[in-house]
Amino acid sequence: MKITLDEAIRRVEGEPIQACYVGTDAAERLAAFAAEHLGRSCLVVADENTLAAGGDNLLSALGAVQRRIVHKTYGSETFDATEELGDEVAAAGQEADFFLAIGSGTLCDLAKHAGTKLGKPSVLYATAASMNGYTSGITALKVRGLKRTTPCDPSLGVFADPEVVATAPQRMAAAGVADFLSKCSSASDWRTAHLLRNEYYSPKAMEFYEGTVERVLGTAPGVGRAEPEALAVVLEALLLSGLSMLAAGSSSPASGGEHLLSHYLDMKSALYGTPHDLHGAQVGVGTVHCLGLWEQILSLDPKSLDSDALVDVQPDEDSIRAWIEEDWGPVADEVWAQWQEKSLPPDSLRAEIGRFARDNEELREGVLEDYLPPATVAEAIRAAGGPVTPEELDAPAEEFRKAATRARFIRNRFTVLDLAAELGIQ
Ligand SMILES: [Zn+2]
Repeated sequence: MKITLDEAIRRVEGEPIQACYVGTDAAERLAAFAAEHLGRSCLVVADENTLAAGGDNLLSALGAVQRRIVHKTYGSETFDATEELGDEVAAAGQEADFFLAIGSGTLCDLAKHAGTKLGKPSVLYATAASMNGYTSGITALKVRGLKRTTPCDPSLGVFADPEVVATAPQRMAAAGVADFLSKCSSASDWRTAHLLRNEYYSPKAMEFYEGTVERVLGTAPGVGRAEPEALAVVLEALLLSGLSMLAAGSSSPASGGEHLLSHYLDMKSALYGTPHDLHGAQVGVGTVHCLGLWEQILSLDPKSLDSDALVDVQPDEDSIRAWIEEDWGPVADEVWAQWQEKSLPPDSLRAEIGRFARDNEELREGVLEDYLPPATVAEAIRAAGGPVTPEELDAPAEEFRKAATRARFIRNRFTVLDLAAELGIQ
């Protein structure tokens, strides 16, 4: 059963989002939405590229419904979304009734941040199928050099024209395919955190995905050829994925160990200036890695596990502290605090490995609801034109390899990276 975007919006309760639309008349739809629901004046945040790709159509559609437009336009160079830039957009929009972003992750986050700051609505005109954050209630902005995910008001409406999206760089759409498919691993992380650590889990949030994985896998080669029909499928899947996070009230359905691997690269980049790749590109390589861990976990015989021996070979807290100091220098204390929230003393760890063995049947059933072999996901990302190995990333491969053992320390969320380490799998 396919859940439509309209139905998904109805199922997200208590959030302001009212419209999600993917179609070649998205510009006119957005203008009609603005005329019906929003005030007269609008601050448009865009960059030269996104304005060239989708601006003309949209601005004339807004002109036709008499919206007054003030522009905040950035140059054509890629840049990171920072809190300062978000505040700059807010300052430029003091007099506006609403914010409109024409762009992808960075520009949309700036509009969402500005809208939240001033208590004004935002709407988004997505120009790339690159990530699932359009419909989310979080922004990922750099604050004093480090990327932080912060809750924000979701946008009132998200609109995308697949023909405009088809003009974005190929790597962006491939990143979107990968960001979406990360769910094949992250959903298992979430279910398992619920089973082993009693963390909050919402089956309702997973209903948004019904049938979408198959559709995205089937359409990946079309994404590789930049076909608008294929991009429409990916856009819809990404919007549903964002809505599932809204329904869950957390990013857990779509962000597990594979996202920690990507965050590790982003944090290194922010602190030390090493290159980083697109969010979804890094997440895709992380997903292939994490599905490989799940594959090994699924092949374990729970009866053969020796929990005493496994607990004995875990790194001690002093070694972990030293790694964190080495990796994160000036922000090591913050990272250490995250790790302390989920680190278990030996007895609790032994008990957790015991629960894994005892409830293995239930755990396997849950994982198999979302799990796909790493080769299947790698093939789809590859067909869409994206990277699947650390060496193919525009980020240092050695940092990714380090992340494989150390990324689990950077956040308090329990993921497959923790489970694999506890079970002696690397
Ligand atoms: Zn993501």
